[in-house]
Amino acid sequence: MSFSSNVKDELLKVNDSARHCKIAMLAAFVNLCGYYDGSVLTFFSEHRALLEKISMLVSELVGIRPDIRMLDNRLCVRVEDKTAAGKLINVTMGNSGYDAQAINPLAVSAVCCKRAYLRGAFICTGSVSDPEKQYHLEFSNSDYDHAAALKGLIASFGIDAKIIERKNHYIVYIKEGEQIVDMLNVMSAHKALLEFENLRVVKELRNNLNRIVNCETANLNKVVSAGVRQAEAIEYIRNTVGLSYLSPSLQEMAKIRLEYPDLSLKELGEKLTPPMGKSGVNHRLKKICDIANDLKGDK
Ligand SMILES: [Zn+2]
Repeated sequence: MSFSSNVKDELLKVNDSARHCKIAMLAAFVNLCGYYDGSVLTFFSEHRALLEKISMLVSELVGIRPDIRMLDNRLCVRVEDKTAAGKLINVTMGNSGYDAQAINPLAVSAVCCKRAYLRGAFICTGSVSDPEKQYHLEFSNSDYDHAAALKGLIASFGIDAKIIERKNHYIVYIKEGEQIVDMLNVMSAHKALLEFENLRVVKELRNNLNRIVNCETANLNKVVSAGVRQAEAIEYIRNTVGLSYLSPSLQEMAKIRLEYPDLSLKELGEKLTPPMGKSGVNHRLKKICDIANDLKGDK
């Protein structure tokens, strides 16, 4: 089972007790998988559990429980009673009538109903990637106006979705981990949210560890390359004019640097008698390098 189908299964199990929320959810189904010809209301989906949910909502709202059946080789639920179908269109779509492109503002005026609508829309046309792979949640819409209205509904929860066109569809999508968590929360996918958060924590911990390791390696390289440069300068002095050319304090510094080429400045300072701070060590090593450079320049 994919993460996406787990989310849908969980959302299908959420039962809104309030009539307004049932209407809001059915409104999403009318918009996204419904077809109304003026007398019969048909919902098409390959997802049997979704059709069962629709049949249940229809029975709760108008007292008729339609069966799941095949029509033109497609699974569907049909409300053939003209009065019942008209009533369902009226409550979900409002006075302006059936319009698959628009979200009836009356059906989603309360926050609970906005959430129910988004839950319905996700079950119908949504998908979310496995968080271990990537952060991506989307709703596919065949119509731009519906995509824009959906984006607006999502924005009312402070979530910034984007719209992109893909194969004649308008995809409303969210790419940011934190916002996907918010979206799962808005839709009441609490189990999926916990699973998502766990995977996200593990993933981010792993990324942070990699970052720390890379950073320490970079620092180590810096220490080593400075040490190598200093050791080269000291060896140049020793091989040309001899270390006795240096003052006693610089000679001591030079010997310790040669002995410990990969120690940091602080660690080198601790080897000196008396011990010395980082800046003092840096000053002495810089002097040694300057002397080596002067000797090289003399030639
Ligand atoms: Zn409600």
